[in-house]
Amino acid sequence: MRKILLLHTGGTLGMAPSGEPASLAPGRFLDHLLVQVPELGQLAALSVEVPFNQDSACLEPADILGLAGRLRSAARDFDGFVVIHGTDTMAFTASVLGFLLADLGRPVVLTGSQRPLAFVRSDARSNLVNAVDLATRGIPEIGICFGNHWLRGVATDKLSANQFEAFQSPNLPPLAEIGAEIQFHPDAGQFTRQVPMGLGAALDLNIHTVTPHPGMAWSLAPAGVSGVLIQAFGAGNLPMGRPDLQAFLEDCRGRKLPVVVVSQCPHGGVDLSAYELGRQVEAFGAISGGLHTRWTALAKLGLVLGAGGDLAQVREAFGVGWAGEPMPEGAWSQA
Ligand code: ASP
Repeated sequence: MRKILLLHTGGTLGMAPSGEPASLAPGRFLDHLLVQVPELGQLAALSVEVPFNQDSACLEPADILGLAGRLRSAARDFDGFVVIHGTDTMAFTASVLGFLLADLGRPVVLTGSQRPLAFVRSDARSNLVNAVDLATRGIPEIGICFGNHWLRGVATDKLSANQFEAFQSPNLPPLAEIGAEIQFHPDAGQFTRQVPMGLGAALDLNIHTVTPHPGMAWSLAPAGVSGVLIQAFGAGNLPMGRPDLQAFLEDCRGRKLPVVVVSQCPHGGVDLSAYELGRQVEAFGAISGGLHTRWTALAKLGLVLGAGGDLAQVREAFGVGWAGEPMPEGAWSQA
């Protein structure tokens, strides 16, 4: 039987009916799991750890880096991993882990649920069973198993606050469709690993994020931030006629702050050459986030900045697929 380590980090799945994170000790949680979902014991030899137990809205960089460290140190002892995680920031954790553990050589399956396992009508049971099953399959991907899909972590976004099919990888086909059979994409596990050396000691999230709307006033980026992430309209357009926006971009350029542009649209991505406005954004030195989701872009930017990377290194990072994230030329074709 495959040896699987299940790391419980919190979220709705383990919550008490009151909505509070139930206080979970590893031994007790494993007993509880095996009572609630006894079939898990038929799928794998399970071990459980509880590195932290919180609503994922409270996630901090140290939590993710600690998790990455534990997964790496446990890789020799286990065939695969399941990470139970709140859904709110799961796509971000999956993105950071997807980059930092691209070379792990083990499946890391993140999952959670929209309703607690303790509820009779819950998606927790099927998500857990599917996640443990996927973790035994030997496919070295870091991905989110939720509803009927397994999705590559560095391509995901949470799209629903209440539906059981809560995640999508809008610009990449699923790694697996989970129905009566699990149907894997032929390229699951196949991606070029080009993650730069030296990442992961720190995750610098001192990033100024902006989601503009029509008529919004632009203030200069706050003092002390390390970078800027703009979630622009459509293909990367911004109202470039506005003097306050021009002053914002000019100020960023003067401060050598990397400005990365992603799209407010989940599907498709940024192409700064598509419109005159996009060209003007680029002329100010902004960097296209291409097909990166907001979470994957934040992860990449935070990792480069955390490693002390400068504007040139951020620009380089967004021009390259590090770990199978969708790139304009097609992620699957990179394999
Ligand atoms: N707020 C919860 C969390 O992210 C939501 C969930 O788990 O679905 O921890």
